[in-house]
Amino acid sequence: MTPQSLYDLDRSAWGELLHQEPKFRVDQIWNGLYHQGKELGELTSLPKALREQLLEQLPTALNKVTEQVSDSGDTTKFLWELSGGARVETVLMLYPDRATVCISSQAGCAMACSFCATGQAGFERQLSTGEIVEQVLRARRVAMAQQPARRVSNIVFMGMGEPMANFENTWAAVQRIHDDIEIGARHITVSTVGLIPGIHRMAAEALPVNLAVSLHAADNTLRNELVPINRKYPLEDLMAACASYFAATRRRVSFEWAMIHDVNDRLSDAQALAELAHPLRAHINLIPLNPTPGYAVRGSSKNRVRAFREELERLGINVTVRDTRGTEIDAACGQLRAGHEATPVSRPQRRS
Ligand code: SAH
Repeated sequence: MTPQSLYDLDRSAWGELLHQEPKFRVDQIWNGLYHQGKELGELTSLPKALREQLLEQLPTALNKVTEQVSDSGDTTKFLWELSGGARVETVLMLYPDRATVCISSQAGCAMACSFCATGQAGFERQLSTGEIVEQVLRARRVAMAQQPARRVSNIVFMGMGEPMANFENTWAAVQRIHDDIEIGARHITVSTVGLIPGIHRMAAEALPVNLAVSLHAADNTLRNELVPINRKYPLEDLMAACASYFAATRRRVSFEWAMIHDVNDRLSDAQALAELAHPLRAHINLIPLNPTPGYAVRGSSKNRVRAFREELERLGINVTVRDTRGTEIDAACGQLRAGHEATPVSRPQRRS
């Protein structure tokens, strides 16, 4: 069941709810909530009685449990509790030239990638469109309250969950973020483990957002182990889907690669990755592996990361090393997990 909260209402649902009110009310509320980023209680242009009635009728979905700050104030992680008790996290990252919000699309995740804390904890439930959108709005208010105020410029679906396994709600959220929160398609990135039907659906949509694919391995044997959904959607098919996304949208795909010591960080791995990336002109994001409770292997050393990056560059591939924002508050890639229940430790197979 999709919970109904303030941000789950689209324009037509607002129209139905306010059918006894003058027509301009819907615009007034919509502009206030989305364009101006106000909360319902702050919409003082509404008659007081109506405002109070709406406040009673339409709760917001995200109840803040904690808000943790690190990187000298530049990274904020929010832990929210949703109706029914599920918890999700959102991360706001301030950079000199941009402000990015990393949002969750599901509570937990069913994809079970071995090195990811969200995957280790399992799936809880889908987020509604409103629950996804509200994360952006809540983080935007915190960005606006900075001295000086910061405007949220980028959205990444890289928090908890697999966005393509919650496609309808994810896409409705993308549209609202684009149309009403006014963030351009080139500043929105949807990241997936590689659910091919989702990639095709997204290619057929009019908005060309960025597609990121969590690759992590360039051969099926290793990828089956790291990203188990690869058994269903193997690399050959995944690369073909990426090619069709690129052809349909002209957006270069990016590949994420968590650098895991002795597992996928050798020069031969870089060469195999370059072969996949080259025909797509894909951009590579290297993510030094962040520690998670259920995975016993360490991340690659700085030197290994550098050598890997240099090998890719030598082969003519575009590559960036992602910074490890928020590691000390468990807000970095793959560390979002909401609860802190113990998880069994898996020991992956070493490769010779
Ligand atoms: N389910 C989607 C969205 C999550 S994005 C996806 O997998 O793409 C989160 C990114 O962080 C993914 O690329 C994921 O593979 C990566 N990641 C997961 N665990 C990590 C870890 N421990 N260290 C570094 N990156 C990790």
